[in-house]
Amino acid sequence: MKRRKFLQVFLAVATLLTAQLFAQDAKPKYIFLMIGDGMGVTQIAAASKYLDLTQPDAGGLLWEKFPVKGLTTTHPAATDKITDSAAAATAIACGVKTKNGMIGMTADNTAHRSVAYAAKDKGMKVAIITSVGINHATPAAFYSTRMSRGMYNEIGLDIASSAFDFFAGEPLLGKKPDEGRAAIKSAGYTIVNDREKIINYQPQGKTLIEHPIPYRVDAKEDSLRLTDFMRAGLKSLSDSEKGFFCMVEAGKIDWMGHANDIASSIGEVLDLNDTMAVVYDFYKKHPRETLIVVTGDHETGGMSFNFTANFDPKRFVAAVDGQKYSSTVLAGHLKGWRKEKLSNDEIIKRCLDAFGLSDVTPEEQAKLKKNVGERALLTVCQNMVAQRCGVTWTSFNHSSASVKTTAIGPGSELFAGDTDNTDIAKNIFKLLN
Ligand SMILES: [Zn+2]
Repeated sequence: MKRRKFLQVFLAVATLLTAQLFAQDAKPKYIFLMIGDGMGVTQIAAASKYLDLTQPDAGGLLWEKFPVKGLTTTHPAATDKITDSAAAATAIACGVKTKNGMIGMTADNTAHRSVAYAAKDKGMKVAIITSVGINHATPAAFYSTRMSRGMYNEIGLDIASSAFDFFAGEPLLGKKPDEGRAAIKSAGYTIVNDREKIINYQPQGKTLIEHPIPYRVDAKEDSLRLTDFMRAGLKSLSDSEKGFFCMVEAGKIDWMGHANDIASSIGEVLDLNDTMAVVYDFYKKHPRETLIVVTGDHETGGMSFNFTANFDPKRFVAAVDGQKYSSTVLAGHLKGWRKEKLSNDEIIKRCLDAFGLSDVTPEEQAKLKKNVGERALLTVCQNMVAQRCGVTWTSFNHSSASVKTTAIGPGSELFAGDTDNTDIAKNIFKLLN
């Protein structure tokens, strides 16, 4: 009995030591941090279900198969508050809690360096890639330290001083984007904004790519996608002898959560999956050296997705596929129709057609009529789509729900189980040490 006990203890210690040894060895050379803005657990679940139903052979959302999984809390410095993207990005990038609105700084106005700068210090290349404005809150927290996310001009200038290797996103936001561009150019960056040149990107030193990316549901055949930015980024990064750090944000999932637009939200999550496919191809070539971490900065819309007894998969897919435009584009159309002084019946007819809604109940018809003069008409339609998808929205804002974090590759075990968003940066700092 004693001998058996000894053996058990010996084995336990040996296993621990081996794990420790591997953990020490397991320092990634290539790090991808992928963030779905506004991507909560339910946004993933709905997109995952849609993908499984429409492309059963596709193998599902790539990051759902990653071996390491956990839930991550997202609150800002005040634990009773709900985070915005600036405080969440600061936590994920720098490992510190701050007040909503602040970029790379704590509430006492102390600036904090991000994991991207830590990677740069090690001689690694750095890329910041997003489907929204390149100086928007989430990407900004990786290269900028500012009191407010609204300081777009100043944040743009911080691109110039970052010395990071590659930036790609929608055009610079703010009142004076050209001032930012001038500073970025004089810091030695090439600015690329031509579609062909982005698709056929040839690395040419420090680069800023600026180009609009439409919502997936609005995209035309020749629209640029986040995947195009990703491919260009990899061309710029892969020659780095000391490895690289690459932050990729799918930034518009959040906006479709604010709009309570489920069909467009699913499209944006699928877009992140397409981008992940490009990253995962790289991983497959360098599995022992590549770490991929996927997370959300917060959930948006207080969305629930219920597989109740009356969830109808066919109705769900038809509702998602039926919607022809994002709610953002439709808001523009609606304004136009009103300017044209179309009749209320015609406006309702066009809305229903744009959302692909045909099976309208008398109650829904009454709601449409009641709201025909308002922007809320679109919300009524979106809720009709949501109802057919088994989705309920409970807010137009962010929620305090935890988000899902998944990871694969060397160092991924650090991200397992229950974590806080600051742990993501803390773990990456550890791996860069
Ligand atoms: Zn938001």
